[in-house]
Amino acid sequence: LHNTLAELKGQIRVFCRVRPLSSKELAKCGGEEAIHFPEEDMLVVSAGGGDKEYEFDRVYAPDQGQVNVFVDTEPLVTSVLDGYNVCIFAYGQTGSGKTHTMEGPSADPGVNSRALAELFKIVEERRDVEEITISASLLEIYNETIRDLMTKDKDKKLDVRQGSDGVHVPDLTITEVHDMDGVNEVIDTGKKNRTTFATNMNEHSSRSHSILSIYIVSRNKVTGVNAKGKLHLVDLAGSERVGKTDATGDRLKEAQAINKSLSALGDVISALTGKASHVPYRNSKLTYLLQDSLGGDSKTLMFVNINPAPENCQETICSLNFAQRVRNV
Ligand code: ADP
Ligand code: MG
Repeated sequence: LHNTLAELKGQIRVFCRVRPLSSKELAKCGGEEAIHFPEEDMLVVSAGGGDKEYEFDRVYAPDQGQVNVFVDTEPLVTSVLDGYNVCIFAYGQTGSGKTHTMEGPSADPGVNSRALAELFKIVEERRDVEEITISASLLEIYNETIRDLMTKDKDKKLDVRQGSDGVHVPDLTITEVHDMDGVNEVIDTGKKNRTTFATNMNEHSSRSHSILSIYIVSRNKVTGVNAKGKLHLVDLAGSERVGKTDATGDRLKEAQAINKSLSALGDVISALTGKASHVPYRNSKLTYLLQDSLGGDSKTLMFVNINPAPENCQETICSLNFAQRVRNV
């Protein structure tokens, strides 16, 4: 039922979210704005004398909060209970609001917590008719290496395999969760373990993708019909381009890995929207891992997060062009 709107609109959506300027940024630009919202679901970037106009499925101006964002995300999230595989990505340069959108502060949580809370609520509502189990895993992809964030073991590197029932990651820790406390425990453990992999957590998280995956298995008690769905909540590595001169050694290697996986993601999504016969899933760990949740019957939502500071215009335009490309070829 709640899929009607989603189905009408196609399987790939792009929502653009522009965060507010920080007080520091506001002081710096003296209130002069580079981004305008002339109409609903449109934005204009004024840069270097020219205006560039963009349209997306949704555009959230800085005054739109977590609740507004979740209202539009909810139908996608709940379709997992009907057996759909869903991927929700946050794409954008470091500092653009990806983590705020997905995770958010505990006092005003983002999509992840709201999604899980909604799923638990529906499970409760359907209790008499359906038996539903929810499990979760948390992993990161750093330099094309997959790490299980549920383990402290730095050397446990995971691989993607293709089996008869889709892609899977052997040895990935998948934990059954019964309520928000269970989910928060997974997230907290993951965060703790992640800090042991990283010397500088902020830098590390901006250079790795983190994927919180939710697995749903349901059985209708009356009809006996089973359904399986997956929800991947992905906080992508920062999309900023790294200057050729300031990247050497590890930094260059990281930048190349990020570039590779983000462009692979763009290539896969645009192949899907363009109905190409070949979809290049295997060009990165990220797309290979998400292969059975991108395309086919799956649903994809890409948030493109924007930092509105005028000095960021060039990065902003890059992010918007990427988002436009995945939306329509
Ligand atoms: P990213 O994960 O893309 O690097 P963050 O989510 O950490 O970016 O956001 C950068 C800063 O901007 C943080 O201090 C965050 O709290 C703030 N921020 C981001 N989006 C919003 C928003 N919609 N409203 C208020 N503050 C935001
Ligand atoms: Mg972040």
